[in-house]
Amino acid sequence: MGFSIAIDGPAGAGKSTIAKRLAEELSLIYVDTGSMYRAMALYFLRFGIDPKDEQAIADACASIDITITYQDGVQCVLLNGENVNGQIRAEEVGSMASNTSVYPCVRTKLTDMQRGLARTSDVVMDGRDIGTCVLPDAQVKIYLTARTAARAKRRYDELLQKGQKADLAQIEADIAERDYRDMHREIAPLRQAEDAVLVDSSDMGIAQVTAVIRGIVEKVQKKGN
Ligand code: C5P
Repeated sequence: MGFSIAIDGPAGAGKSTIAKRLAEELSLIYVDTGSMYRAMALYFLRFGIDPKDEQAIADACASIDITITYQDGVQCVLLNGENVNGQIRAEEVGSMASNTSVYPCVRTKLTDMQRGLARTSDVVMDGRDIGTCVLPDAQVKIYLTARTAARAKRRYDELLQKGQKADLAQIEADIAERDYRDMHREIAPLRQAEDAVLVDSSDMGIAQVTAVIRGIVEKVQKKGN
């Protein structure tokens, strides 16, 4: 394994924004694991597979090939060879991902792949179970969180900025529901690893959170030398 930074936390805590920044600043490969669960979810949606039907999900898993490539430093998720980056951000896909990420058939496939990426590259990987399950030996582990209301407000502002309609109360309810599911599933639930550092981004901007985490990374690197 090379050098790895694991960033876990609930939806909307700013994991991907921060992880992308860190990857750029520290010349690491950014691995967005949520996008892999989303790509599988897109397949289930396209084929009208019932998320409650574990057997149907397991059968479908056998027909799904997920690949990660990088174009100009941007991660592209390929679903059976098709770049689906533009289709996996919808709310519906996120919800399907959260509902189907509970199954071992889905998790094993993606976990193996994520470990493979960390074996061959220095990575900053974000998700829900990176520090606890995927990369338990990661040199740096961060649990990035924020109050539910703050996370909902960010998502709300993001949608308005894109010119989409949004309902703040509904977004907050959806986020709370997704977190509950992610934290209470049987396999690899979202929780802070014992050796992870907690960072609460509720009252910090992107630059400040990035600086805090960089400080944690530098401390670890100094110790290692
Ligand atoms: O982070 P993102 O919102 O893209 O993740 C979508 C869903 O994928 C999460 O709600 C979670 O259920 C699942 N996921 C997971 N393990 C990861 C990353 C994402 O279970 N490492």
